Amino acid sequence: MALDRFGRNINYLRISLTDRCNLRCIYCMPEDMTFRPRSELLQDDEIVRLVRLFTELGFYKFRLTGGEPTVRANIVDLVTAMSLTPGVEKIAMTTNGLLLDRLAQPLADAGMQRVNISIDTLDPAKFKKLTRWGEVEDVWRGIRAAQAAGLEIKLNAVVVRNYNDREDVVDLARLTLYQPWQVRFIEMMPFGDVADFQLAGVVTQAELQETIAAALGPLTPVNPGELDGEASLYQLPGAQGRVGFISSISQPFCASCNRARLTADGRLRLCLLREKEVDLLTPMRDGASDDELMSIMRQGIWWKPWGHGLAQDVIPLNRVMSEIGG
Ligand code: SAM
Repeated sequence: MALDRFGRNINYLRISLTDRCNLRCIYCMPEDMTFRPRSELLQDDEIVRLVRLFTELGFYKFRLTGGEPTVRANIVDLVTAMSLTPGVEKIAMTTNGLLLDRLAQPLADAGMQRVNISIDTLDPAKFKKLTRWGEVEDVWRGIRAAQAAGLEIKLNAVVVRNYNDREDVVDLARLTLYQPWQVRFIEMMPFGDVADFQLAGVVTQAELQETIAAALGPLTPVNPGELDGEASLYQLPGAQGRVGFISSISQPFCASCNRARLTADGRLRLCLLREKEVDLLTPMRDGASDDELMSIMRQGIWWKPWGHGLAQDVIPLNRVMSEIGG
């Protein structure tokens, strides 16, 4: 078991497979983003080794993210190797869905169980504006492929004021009336160079709930007071699916945080919104033994920050979201 000094059991690792992405969402990274050379990123065997060591610390749930995880070469082989690692119980992925039409089935066959697919609006023109060039139809193709492959599906939407905060939110929530999906609305978080834009555009859960309820009827809490992962869940009248809210800004959930993050360049990041990181890549490449690496990991986890400091205007500046993975 990997405990931090606040008594939280940290057992869920989100692994960024690459800092590259095939979109440039306006709230995620600057348009002129530069990417790290591949030699600075974790190689497949290094990821598999770290996954094995994390399972030895009690981690059992792993999520692949990015950048865009599906642009990483050999992702299917990587998932196969992870799923064959004793102690790995759950493998999920957060993706923009663009490449799922050809990858969903192989990934499901390799042992992946769930995908969270990002789709901020159903409107093609607005989708293009938010992603800088994406086609929403490609995401739909990915969603259908994930469904056909039997993957559990959640949809993620980051809400940005004056871009997708009104009818887009209603259109997305309406999907839950007809599909057994969880549609989750994420409050936009501030990072690095894009923090001013992000802070100015946050739409809170309370406002979103009001917008959805006015159009589609009351949102009844599901398991009040309990979170599903990081989302508080609600249901519309007669709905098959659920509406979730991930409200890091207005309702932080740090007390129940069980996550750590591994960046594509091999840093263990202990809180999404804090700059603190522990370098695993350098000691690994310098020949550290498994015991030495696990000791570094354990120490890092012990010192995991309690939570973010947004209320005190502390904003992480060392990376933007696409370099951490969400
Ligand atoms: N490319 C993948 C995708 O689009 O899902 C995975 C990486 S992306 C960084 C992971 C998640 O973070 C996505 O759901 C994305 O919408 C969300 N995200 C990006 N920037 C964000 C921000 N500033 N605040 C909140 N969520 C953000």
